[in-house]
Amino acid sequence: MNEKDNIALVETLKKMYPDAKCSLDFTTPFEMLIAVILSAQCTDERVNKTTPAIFAKYNTPEDFANMDLALLESLIHSCGFYKNKAKNIKATSQILVEKYHSQVPNTMEELMSLPGVGRKTANVVMLEAFNSPQGVAVDTHCKRIANRIGLSNQKEPEKIEQDILKQFPKKYYYDLNHILIWHGRKICTARNPKCEDCSISMYCKEFKNKKF
Ligand code: SF4
Repeated sequence: MNEKDNIALVETLKKMYPDAKCSLDFTTPFEMLIAVILSAQCTDERVNKTTPAIFAKYNTPEDFANMDLALLESLIHSCGFYKNKAKNIKATSQILVEKYHSQVPNTMEELMSLPGVGRKTANVVMLEAFNSPQGVAVDTHCKRIANRIGLSNQKEPEKIEQDILKQFPKKYYYDLNHILIWHGRKICTARNPKCEDCSISMYCKEFKNKKF
């Protein structure tokens, strides 16, 4: 697609999803970081059911750095992969206390140096906690739509992200993070995408190839 079509694509999706935003609940950058770590291989809905009770009692890096690992595992058990997530949350919290004065750092490089924080998580934290999008967090929805529309032929999230970033001005990064995910949840679903209800079908490579 050319730049004009790319911008038309974003503007169309923005009109379709004017309320698109992050669906994880949080009140501080640290809560955001913990919620995103918990959301790996888990639904945002499940994370939102789990975190209120935890954050009511524990919501600082010190709380998690000093927490007994078995207790942390039991608190986050319902989010899956709880052993690994607990280990990473505790280690990340210890680093925040020791190296960052108990603050969440606000650069991609520093965030990605924390245990359990990859590029996708760092992108979400920069966007949601610091309102400073540095890229596009490529989750399963974003990956599927980017491939179907033809924004990227790549399979690896990092490569897909780089393809997307090359094709859109930075001012659209904020919107892209939300509208692609929302479109994937509501219309361009993994199975049986609702192409007949899709307002961006004219820009979609798969639709033009009549694969659905
Ligand atoms: S036309 Fe179909 S495949 Fe293409 S973006 Fe829309 S729903 Fe997805």
